[in-house]
Amino acid sequence: MSYEQYLLELAELECTSRYNNRIERNLRDSRLPRDKNIDTFDLKRVPAKVAHQVRSLREGAFVDHWENILAFGNPGSGKTHLLCAIGQELIRKGRRVYFTACSLLVQDLLRAKQDLQLSRFLKKLSRYDALIIDDIGYVQHDRYEMEVLFTLLAERYERGSVMITSNLPFSKWDQIVKDPMVTAAAIDRLVHHSVIEELDIESYRMQAAKKNKDKKRDGPASVSCEADV
Ligand code: ADP
Ligand code: MG
Repeated sequence: MSYEQYLLELAELECTSRYNNRIERNLRDSRLPRDKNIDTFDLKRVPAKVAHQVRSLREGAFVDHWENILAFGNPGSGKTHLLCAIGQELIRKGRRVYFTACSLLVQDLLRAKQDLQLSRFLKKLSRYDALIIDDIGYVQHDRYEMEVLFTLLAERYERGSVMITSNLPFSKWDQIVKDPMVTAAAIDRLVHHSVIEELDIESYRMQAAKKNKDKKRDGPASVSCEADV
């Protein structure tokens, strides 16, 4: 090997190692559950339109246009898994992602506001290309909680992507937020540049439980059949 080739090889090794370290660091920092990735997600289970959207979303160009992803569907339909999988793909493409449950995020925002650190916290979140807010709609939010959440959404509007999961369609958001004006303003900002994933399919957990039950029922039955014979 010539000196030049040796140097090139060395530089390439160093680049690969730095890239891998960066991805690993960003994955850790994102707080994304590692097992919810694209390899463990069965795309055949979701409507063809969603599967088609996912193929382009995983490339990550949507974050360049501050587009949001809004995943709706009943509990267990795979919303969280799907957005986590897209989030991990974004990180592998060199983006930064932060995953948080909505209820925790609201508490963090309120605490930051109380400590007069809200703008600092928002600035920290603004460093992420995409923010995944899981489960908007499970807990009712009072005026103060919705106010800080709205501040965050307004801050990210046309500056960064937001990816949300919710079991409630927008038409029912008035059940979780009592202030119709704030709700309308939040929805308006979320929807403006967005891709909507509708997962109106049977719960994965329920399907798995049914399969399990069928297996158990068929198991002893076939044994007793054999015994009868
Ligand atoms: P949701 O957020 O809609 O309530 P989750 O994403 O938490 O649902 O999914 C419930 C469980 O089912 C999780 O363990 C998830 O990994 C699994 N799951 C859901 N959809 C799929 C899928 N298409 N392929 C593989 N696992 C899935
Ligand atoms: Mg979920």
